[in-house]
Amino acid sequence: PDTRRWCFADQLGPHFLDAPDQPVLLVESRGVFRRRRFHRQKAHLLLSALRHRAAELGDQALFLQTDTYAEALDQVREPLSVCAPTTWPARDFVLRRPGVTVLEARGFVTRQADFRRWAASRSRQRLLMDDFYRVARRAHDVLMDGAEPAGGTWNLDHDNRQPPPADGRVDAPPPWWPVEDEIDEQVRADLDRWEADGDVAFVGDDGPRLFPVTHAETQERLADFLTHRLRAFGPHEDAMLSGDPWLAHSMLSASLNLGLVDPADVVHRADAAWRESVAAGDPLPLNSVEGFVRQVMGWRDWIWHLYWQLGRDYRHGNALEAHEEVPGWMGELEAEAVGANCLSHVLADVRERGWVHHIPRLMVLGNYALQRGIEPLAITDWFHRMFLDGYDWVMVANVVGMSQHADGGVLATKPYAAGGAYIDRMSDYCGGCRYDPRKRLGEDACPFTAGYWAFLERNRERLAGNLRMRQPLAGLGRLKDLDAVVDQEVRRGTDAP
Ligand code: SF4
Repeated sequence: PDTRRWCFADQLGPHFLDAPDQPVLLVESRGVFRRRRFHRQKAHLLLSALRHRAAELGDQALFLQTDTYAEALDQVREPLSVCAPTTWPARDFVLRRPGVTVLEARGFVTRQADFRRWAASRSRQRLLMDDFYRVARRAHDVLMDGAEPAGGTWNLDHDNRQPPPADGRVDAPPPWWPVEDEIDEQVRADLDRWEADGDVAFVGDDGPRLFPVTHAETQERLADFLTHRLRAFGPHEDAMLSGDPWLAHSMLSASLNLGLVDPADVVHRADAAWRESVAAGDPLPLNSVEGFVRQVMGWRDWIWHLYWQLGRDYRHGNALEAHEEVPGWMGELEAEAVGANCLSHVLADVRERGWVHHIPRLMVLGNYALQRGIEPLAITDWFHRMFLDGYDWVMVANVVGMSQHADGGVLATKPYAAGGAYIDRMSDYCGGCRYDPRKRLGEDACPFTAGYWAFLERNRERLAGNLRMRQPLAGLGRLKDLDAVVDQEVRRGTDAP
C-alpha cells in the first residue's frame, strides 16, 4: 500500500487504491487531445474528473500536468504500481516502463483470468454473452435465489423491447444532475484557451456538465436511479423519443468507464434495491432490474473481456469490405444538413450532449454506417471521439463486431441492419419526417428502408452462408424494383439523406 499508485484517467474511484491513504500519481496529458478531435464535452468530462480527483486527494496525490505520459513519468523517482490499463497501447507502455509494477485490472465485476479460463473451455464461435453472464451472476451472487436465477429465469429481455409509451413519456422523473463548480470553470477556461491558441480542436457543443466526475456524484446519480427511475427502465429501454433522450436510462456508463464507481457495488446495490422492494410489498419489476444488471455486469464485462480475447488485430476486421469515408456532415455533427428525421435528431443529440442510448447508436448511427459501407475502423474512431463514455476497449468490439459485422459474425450472429419499419416502430421520428418508412423508391423513399435492400444486395454473396440471413436474402428475390432501388442508393451514397 505504500507504493505510489499511478491511476490513469479512467481509474479514478477508490477501488483502484489498496488503502484510502495510499499515495497516488495522476497525470493530465494534453497531448491526448492534440492527437484526435474529441467532442468538447468529452474533453471537459475527462479533465474535470481528473482534476476533481487530484483536489480530493490533496497532498496524497502527485498531480502532473504535462504533454505526454512519458514526460510526467520521467519526473517520478520512486517505484510505482498501476492497475493494468484499459487499452493495448497503454498496457504496452506500462509494461515497458522500468520501476512500474503492473497489477491485475480493476473496474469490472469479473476478472480477466476467470474469463480466460471460461473461454478456454469453448470454441471461438461459442463465446456467448448470455453464457458468461450466467457464470458471473452465480459467482457474484447477483439476482440469485440459491443456485437459481431470481424469478426463475436468467434473461427477461423479451419484456424490454416495447415501443415508446403511447403518451410519449416514460413514467420516471428526470435524472439527477450534477452542479458545476470552480474546477469545471477552470477546465472550461483552459479548453477555450487551448482552442483559441489553435493547439487543439474539438467538435460538438460545449454545455453544462451532465455527467458525474466524482465518486460522490456518481453515488448520487446511482441512488436517484435506483429509487426513482429503475422501475420504469426496462420496458422502454430500446425506445427512442425525439423529446426525451434519457428515458429511464441510468446514464452511469460515463462514470463506470471513468472508473468512478465499482460496478460490483452497482449491481449489488441494484440487487439490494430489488430485495427491499419485494420485502416492502411493492416489488421493482424484475425485467427492469435484470435489464440493468445485464448492462453493467453482462454486456459491459463481456465487451471488456472480448477486447483482450479477440486480440490486437480484431479492430482491422472488414468482412463486408466497407471502404467509404465517414462523411463530412457526420464528422462535423451537422444535424441541419440531414433531412432524415431520425438521423438528424440523433446527430443533434450527440452534438448537444455527447451521449445517446444504445439503440440510437446501434439502430440509427451504426445502422446507417453499415448500410452505407463506411469503413469499420473509421466509424469506430468516430464513435470513440463523439461519445462521452467511449474508450477504445468498449468501442472496438461494440462497433467493429456488433454494429458493423466486420468480424464476419464472431460477436453477433447477423448484421444489425434494419429498415425504416424498425425505427418507425421504436420511435416517434417517422411522423415528422419528409421520407416514408414504407417507401423504398422515389422522392420520399426512406434512406433506411432503401438502404437496407441495397445493403443486402451488395452483400448477397458475403452473407449467403449465414443461416439467419436466408430469409432476408430470399426477400431480395421478390423485389421487382430492386435494380432501381440499388441505383437510387448508389447515387445517394453517403450524401446527407
Ligand atoms: Fe428515419 Fe426513414 Fe423514419 Fe425518416 S422515415 S425518420 S429516415 S426511418
